[in-house]
Amino acid sequence: MTVYDIAVIGAGPAGLAAAATAAGNGAAVAVIDAAERSGGQYYRHQHGDDGARHHHWRAFTRLRDRLDGVAHLAGHRVWHAEPGEPHVLHCLVGHADERPATVRARRVVLATGAHDRSLPFPGWDLPGVMTAGGAQALWKGQGLPAGNNVVVTGTGPFLLPVATGLAAAGATVHGVFEANRPNRHALPLATDLSRAAEAAGYAAALARHRIPYRTGHAVIAAHGHDRLEEVTVARLDRDWRPVDGTHRTIPCDTLAAGYGFTPQLELAVHLGCELTPGFDGTPVAVVDAAQATTAARVWAAGETCGVGGAILAMTTGALAGHAATDTTPPTGLLRRRTRQRRLAAALAAAWPVRDGWRSWLTDDTLVCRCEEVTYARVREAVADGARDTRGLKLLSRTGMGHCQGRVCGYAAARILGVAEHVNRPLAQPVRLGDLAGLDTHPPQGADT
Ligand SMILES: Cc1cc2nc3c(=O)[nH]c(=O)nc-3n(C[C@H](O)[C@H](O)[C@H](O)COP(=O)(O)OP(=O)(O)OC[C@H]3O[C@@H](n4cnc5c(N)ncnc54)[C@H](O)[C@@H]3O)c2cc1C
Repeated sequence: MTVYDIAVIGAGPAGLAAAATAAGNGAAVAVIDAAERSGGQYYRHQHGDDGARHHHWRAFTRLRDRLDGVAHLAGHRVWHAEPGEPHVLHCLVGHADERPATVRARRVVLATGAHDRSLPFPGWDLPGVMTAGGAQALWKGQGLPAGNNVVVTGTGPFLLPVATGLAAAGATVHGVFEANRPNRHALPLATDLSRAAEAAGYAAALARHRIPYRTGHAVIAAHGHDRLEEVTVARLDRDWRPVDGTHRTIPCDTLAAGYGFTPQLELAVHLGCELTPGFDGTPVAVVDAAQATTAARVWAAGETCGVGGAILAMTTGALAGHAATDTTPPTGLLRRRTRQRRLAAALAAAWPVRDGWRSWLTDDTLVCRCEEVTYARVREAVADGARDTRGLKLLSRTGMGHCQGRVCGYAAARILGVAEHVNRPLAQPVRLGDLAGLDTHPPQGADT
C-alpha cells in the first residue's frame, strides 16, 4: 500500500508550486487533479500549447520542469477526503469507464481553487448564456470561441481576458458591461507594475477589436425562444439598480456572465478545516502564516484561502510546500504574499457585488436552475421561516439538485443575508456502488 508523504489536491498554480517545493525538499509527493493536464484554470491549455494565450507562461513551464519524481494522478476526481493517519482520499478515475481509487498520504495540501460565481437574472437559464469562466475555459482548453456574437457582463478584471480571448478566437464581441465603476480601491492595483501592464495590454486589445467597455452597466435580462437571441443592458446606480430610461437591447447568440469566484471548500470541510469570511465575505479556509489550516496535517493554498489570482496562488502554494515539509521558507516569499494579499483585498473592494441585482429579478426568474425554483418561491420560503440556505433548501428545494448549490448558493445566501453554506459531503457526483466502497480497479499510483 503506497502512502505518500504529501498529497496535493489540485494541479493549478497553487498546487503545482506546493508539489514542486515539497518534492524539492525531498518528500514523496502525489499531485491529484480532476483534469487530464496540469495548470488548473489559469494555465488551462491544449496539447502542444506554446503558451501564446497565457500570461506568465514561463512560470508554469518552470514549475512543470520541477515536478520530476512527483506522481501526477491526472483525471482523478476526489469525491471525499477522510481525515486520519494517513488521510484517505477517495477518487473516481476516468469518464465512461469511471472507476474508484483511493490515495493515502500522511499530509495533505488543499489547492482546489474556485468556481465561477453566478447571479440569476431573467433568462439566465437559456442555452447560450454561460459563465465567463466557462467561455474562457472553452477558449483556453479547446481554442474555440463560445459563440459568434457575444456579450460579456459581470464585474471584475477577469471580464477583460474573457472578452479579448473571445475576440482573438474569432467571435464578434458587442460589449463588456462592467457593473461597477472605477473607485479609489482599485488604486493599489494601478500602481502594481505587472497588473498595470496586463491591464494596458487588455485596453489595447479591446481597442484593436473595437469592443466597447462600459462601466456602471450590466446585462439585466436575456431573451429568446429556444435559445438566447438578445440581451437587455441597463445603466446601474451605485447599488446596481437599473436607471429608468437607460434600457436597450443587443442581439447576440452568447452571453458570458461572471461575478467573481467562490472558493471550492468541500474537501476542506471534509478534513475538518475551519472556514472564515474572506475579503468579500465568501467563506475561505482559515490558514496561519505557514498556510496550515486548523485541521491536523492539512495545509491550504491558492484560492481555497481567498480569491487573489494566479501569482498569489503560486506564492501561497510554495509556502504550503515548505511548511508541509517542515522547511523554513525564504523571507522574500513571505513578503511577496503580504504584498499580493494586499492587492487581493483591493481587488475585492474595487469590484464588489452590490445588492441592487435583486431588483433585476422577476417573480418567475429561476434562482435554482437545477430544481427550477423561482424567485417568488424563494421569497415564499423566506416568509415561511427559512433563515439560512439549509432551511431554504428544505422548504423550497433551492440547492438540492445536481450542482448542490454551487451555482445558486451564493445568490440564495445573498437573498437571505447570510453566509454561504459549503457543507457538501460529496465533492463530486458519485455512484451508489462507489459509495458502498466497491474499489476493484486501482489505477497506477493509487491503491484499493
Ligand atoms: C473557469 C475558470 C476560469 C478561469 N480563468 C482564468 C483566467 O483565464 N485568468 C485569470 O487570471 N484567472 C482565471 N481564473 C481564476 C483562477 O482560478 C485563478 O486565478 C488561479 O487559477 C487560481 O489558482 P489555484 O491553483 O488556486 O486554483 P485553480 O487554478 O482553479 O486549480 C485548482 C485545481 O484543482 C482541481 N480540483 C478542484 N477540486 C478537485 C477535486 N475534488 N478533485 C480533483 N481535483 C480538483 C481543479 O481541477 C483545478 O485544476 C479562472 C477561474 C475559473 C473558475
